[in-house]
Amino acid sequence: MAERVDPNLVKQIEQYGKGAWADCFHCGNCTGACPLTEEKVLFPRKSYTDIQLGLKDSLASSIEPWLCYYCGDCSKQCPRDANPGETMMILRRYLTSIYDWTGLSRKFYVSHWWEYIAIFIVGLAVTLLLTVVNPNGIVMELTSSGGVQINKMFPVEWVHLGDTIMGLCIGGLLISNIFRMYYFIILKDKTLKIPLLSYITGIKDLMMHFATQKRFKECDNKSYWGIHWILMTSYSLMFVIIMFFLPWFQTEEVHNWYHPQRMLGYYATFGLMLGIIYFFVLRIRKEHEVSKNSHVSDWIFLILLFLSTLSGILLHFFRIYGLPVATYYMYVIHMAVLVPMLVVEVPFSKWSHLAYRPFAVYFSQLKKSALLKQHRG
Ligand code: SF4
Ligand code: SF4
Repeated sequence: MAERVDPNLVKQIEQYGKGAWADCFHCGNCTGACPLTEEKVLFPRKSYTDIQLGLKDSLASSIEPWLCYYCGDCSKQCPRDANPGETMMILRRYLTSIYDWTGLSRKFYVSHWWEYIAIFIVGLAVTLLLTVVNPNGIVMELTSSGGVQINKMFPVEWVHLGDTIMGLCIGGLLISNIFRMYYFIILKDKTLKIPLLSYITGIKDLMMHFATQKRFKECDNKSYWGIHWILMTSYSLMFVIIMFFLPWFQTEEVHNWYHPQRMLGYYATFGLMLGIIYFFVLRIRKEHEVSKNSHVSDWIFLILLFLSTLSGILLHFFRIYGLPVATYYMYVIHMAVLVPMLVVEVPFSKWSHLAYRPFAVYFSQLKKSALLKQHRG
């Protein structure tokens, strides 16, 4: 059955960023210039066809925007300044909101006020939990003496329980959205018959792409990949420590600087700061295609990451220099920034792209194996 045309598709996509879609006349230069395009996966031109014709279902089932790593080569070659690289970026935002069944992703991308309010509400809830609900409330402790007793003030078992609940919610939302991505890309196409073995053999590649995001390397700008990778591993390391190893990380004892607990923390902090400064400078200078068109959500993510890292560094120094009041206040500030960043960014916004990209490669390989089987059979 022919696909129904949605005449409002352009208007819907414009809410995620401005693009010159009508200007594309399908010369194919962008596809020719793209270092990542392959036979049967012709992007970015195919996405222009979907947008111009209002093929909403075709767009929702497309993998192409996730296979693009925004090197910008296509935009430089476009004779109509239709900026295909940025179009891929806009479509990643749009698809993120299509996969998200809660509708929050759409709200956060379309109105930054929704994102500010969500961050404020989660931050306020965390602050109240740590100060008012916490039986060792900060006001009581300010009058006491006896050095920094972080686990007495914020019992690690309670904090760990809280972050486990948060992790389960975030993970559940992200997994359910990935399943919806799978539905749109694979399940909805009834002609696709994926060999069971392909699901299993593709897992190795999925893990590898998740850990390395190595398709970035195929673009010319290698330093972009390198720093993005350091930022991603630092961010993921912190996430894993907080979610699974908090009792090992939040100890009363201050270990020597070479203790693995501190070394891992220093690596993550260094990687985060390096990545944050690099991407701030890139976005402010606007010299590369990838940084010429920053969306509000790009800035919100970077600012939250910066505040979480800075408050984490200050917390660490206040603690090792034995300043209890400053440590407790900074702990609350750190959590009031870190938790909203995780809750808002991981399932609904910028961070979710890190999960969708490797799954897109996985689904693309599944599709290829189905087509190969059809061809042979
Ligand atoms: S190079 Fe520009 S005009 Fe040509 S197909 Fe790509 S987006 Fe369209
Ligand atoms: S930005 Fe780079 S990877 Fe993305 S479509 Fe254009 S040329 Fe390909």
